[in-house]
Amino acid sequence: MPELHSFRIEAVVLRHADYGEADRILTLYARQLGKTRALVKGARKITSRKAGHLEPFTQVRLQMAKGRDLPLITQADTVEAYLPIREDLSLTGQAAYVIELLDRLTYEDGLENPAIFELLTETLKRLAVKADPWLATRYYEMRLLDHLGFRPKLFECANCGREIRPADQFFSFAAGGVICPDCGRSAPNLRQISVEALKYLRHFQRSSYAEAARAHPATEVRQETENLMQGYFTYLLERELKTPGFMRKIKA
Ligand SMILES: [Zn+2]
Repeated sequence: MPELHSFRIEAVVLRHADYGEADRILTLYARQLGKTRALVKGARKITSRKAGHLEPFTQVRLQMAKGRDLPLITQADTVEAYLPIREDLSLTGQAAYVIELLDRLTYEDGLENPAIFELLTETLKRLAVKADPWLATRYYEMRLLDHLGFRPKLFECANCGREIRPADQFFSFAAGGVICPDCGRSAPNLRQISVEALKYLRHFQRSSYAEAARAHPATEVRQETENLMQGYFTYLLERELKTPGFMRKIKA
């Protein structure tokens, strides 16, 4: 097959960094390539017409050309700028969290992953239309864990495999799921999880977004699930840093 010298991708800008005198390196999540990087020549010149399309969170269509080290972006068109997110500091924070999780939990493998791309753009859309940001973010976390091979076990004990009964339980980051009260007596490093919080996490794991959106948890349950999920992501990220290549094996 002849190598393509010019190609088009659809992507969301994750971040950018200055490069050399006037250039910029973009980190993108592309429908066709997963996480990938590309160079924008002259992006920092005032006259650059491409640069405006290439801020973080922007969904773009890009014309790319083979470069020496990185592909070059030769043309950029905005598909969706998600302006309401940019105009609201709290939504900007939520979107930054969504982007950061994806950026830190994926690596450049050149493989298409349309499911993650769809999840990312759907989540940004939900934030932009000011859907419940708590719900949009928790739903995103749960689906992202699925796509990355870290689906938490919420229906059987992650230690003994017995069915979880509707009662307060424990959660183990290391075991990747809920631990029943019996196993919880001896297992180390457990978090408590209330029956209410578990109910919502299960709901998000097996429901469509429309179904999940019917949930109206109390404030303390919202806080509990948020803390628990953020603890789990922190654990996964630390383990990833300590174990280079771990994610690669998980995907293989
Ligand atoms: Zn058990």
